[in-house]
Amino acid sequence: AKDAGRNTTRFFNPAMQAAIESRMALETALRQALVGDELQLFYQPQVDQDGCCIGAEALLRWRHARDGLISPAEFIPLAEETGLILPIGQWVMDTACAQLKIWETQAHCRSWQLAVNISARQFHQPDFVTQVRSSLDRSGANPQRLKLELTESVVLENAAEVASRMQQIKALGVGFSMDDFGTGYSSLSYLKRLPLDQLKIDQSFVRDIATDPNDAAIVRAILAMSQSLGIDVIAEGVETEEQRAFLHANGCHLFQGYLFGKPRPINEWTLCTSI
Ligand code: C2E
Ligand code: CA
Ligand code: CA
Ligand code: CA
Repeated sequence: AKDAGRNTTRFFNPAMQAAIESRMALETALRQALVGDELQLFYQPQVDQDGCCIGAEALLRWRHARDGLISPAEFIPLAEETGLILPIGQWVMDTACAQLKIWETQAHCRSWQLAVNISARQFHQPDFVTQVRSSLDRSGANPQRLKLELTESVVLENAAEVASRMQQIKALGVGFSMDDFGTGYSSLSYLKRLPLDQLKIDQSFVRDIATDPNDAAIVRAILAMSQSLGIDVIAEGVETEEQRAFLHANGCHLFQGYLFGKPRPINEWTLCTSI
């Protein structure tokens, strides 16, 4: 019995204990961030081949009182695990739609759109369609100007159900973009079945596009395929003129990346200066 007791206490070593405690502390802090107004949306411009701003992507930030700005890469996975992504996602949608309503009166570009990231767990909520509709109703924003970015993990399972849910949201006027395209493991056959408006080429393919023949080949294949399916393509993570020129030469005419503008808070944002 003595040995067994020792074994059980040894199961949690100090490193594991510390990891569990810091995870719990992060979860508690994230809960407080939501009610304590510490979450904020940044906006990054999306441009066309003339450099004209045709939209923006809303990117979540956490302004931690002590630790400063925390990247979503650090807390979105935990938020997904704990379910906190649901109230957070709702807050993002409401905030983005409210901002969209303000922008609508200023945007000259007819097709100007705001893209919002949706996590798999959020999309699969039974009342997700209602949530999107309610956010739009509350804000009074034009649904045509809203675009939801899904990752391949969203569409991995239950393709028929995903397609029907997407159709319901499309019926509201909202568009869809497939984020991080090319990094998932799902079959490409879903492209035919899902009502997608746009594919977003992942930045991992863009990074070395001008020097790595494999990345260049993948990007060319994505562009050819999307062209035949009649789906728009935007490249993310475009940082250099060389990358932009290469993409453009291969038929990609929409871009997002530091070359055109970093994600910025709303008070540092100017809408479509090039219009
Ligand atoms: P993502 O949706 O793929 O967003 C693109 C990421 O690339 C953003 O990181 C953006 O700041 C960064 N980025 C933009 N341009 C460049 C560039 O030229 N070079 C490089 N190296 N990076 C660039 P961020 O803002 O840290 O967001 C990370 C991820 O967190 C996002 O990846 C998205 O998956 C997730 N995320 C962000 N906001 C939300 C949200 O509101 N809801 C959900 N569910 N996920 C979000
Ligand atoms: Ca995204
Ligand atoms: Ca992405
Ligand atoms: Ca990404």
